[in-house]
Amino acid sequence: MNATMTANCYPWLLPSVRMRLSGDTLILRDGGEFLTFESDGRRVFELLSQAGGEAPEASLTDFHLLAPVLEERRWLVRLARPLSEILSQSPGASRQLAYFAQLQRNGPDRSFEELSGARILILGVGGVGSHLAVSLAGSGVGHLTLSDPDSIDQTNLNRQFMYAMSDVGKYKVRVAERFLRDRYPQVDIRSIPERLLDHPTARNVLSEIDLVVFAGDWDTLGRQSRIPTDIPVVSAGYIGSTGIVGPLLDPRAGTACWRCRLAPFDELCSLEAQAPQRETGWNSSGATINGLLGHLAAEVVLRQVAPSLGGPLLKEEILLIDMVTLTVTKERMADVDCPHRS
Ligand SMILES: [Zn+2]
Repeated sequence: MNATMTANCYPWLLPSVRMRLSGDTLILRDGGEFLTFESDGRRVFELLSQAGGEAPEASLTDFHLLAPVLEERRWLVRLARPLSEILSQSPGASRQLAYFAQLQRNGPDRSFEELSGARILILGVGGVGSHLAVSLAGSGVGHLTLSDPDSIDQTNLNRQFMYAMSDVGKYKVRVAERFLRDRYPQVDIRSIPERLLDHPTARNVLSEIDLVVFAGDWDTLGRQSRIPTDIPVVSAGYIGSTGIVGPLLDPRAGTACWRCRLAPFDELCSLEAQAPQRETGWNSSGATINGLLGHLAAEVVLRQVAPSLGGPLLKEEILLIDMVTLTVTKERMADVDCPHRS
């Protein structure tokens, strides 16, 4: 946020900061961090009470004396618009705004606009993708395209919470669309009950997409070469008890593209896709691992399509989650040759 924006911004005390005034002593607390004003607590309390996200910073007398103290602790949020105006345009988004303020102190509200314009394609709305879709819609993403040829089976219900027993047999994307519309009517949702990347219109759909998420099976991953190399992609999935989130690949920002990144694995993807299926119902797919991966991948998506939140995350890195010991590690991927990066 530059100097002009600072003058025109609306200071807001970080919502997680608690205040306690006793006599002329003011104690501020955020988690385990305390700040005490012993003699001038009442005056500071009055100043802080003005920092409610409604008054422009330039209009607050003496606030400039207090601002550096709050900035040092990262307790000062500066909104680009008045709080009441933000919440009138995004009713019910107060908790999400407070979360975004934890990520970004300067203008976290600008992310609402970035997210509402974002167009995300989710390939696969099963275990990972169904959690991801709800998380993105709840976070304020404005346009979701869902592609999945599968219909709902009773064995999906342990982990795919958008679907109910009465939905068994219906296309997942159709039920997901209905669920999301009921919950988030402001979100523009398109559902495609087939493998989009096999479809002749895929090129048209992809031309209107800002980011693709692979949340499907190996077979889906094997079709990655059909995505233009200038569209960023994120993937999430698991092998046995190990969850994998990432990498984020965005050749326009200097990473390798999907085609080149996954070329060494083409044969593996193909073998997995051709592997004979065993008795149905015996693929390992727990509720917890799917939920974790879907929501973590959603965070990666948000930070890519809303630059004002800070990011990107997991650029050419993967997050590995070992569910046996609940250990999380981050690994940088080995370099690969890619002529598509810029
Ligand atoms: Zn490449």
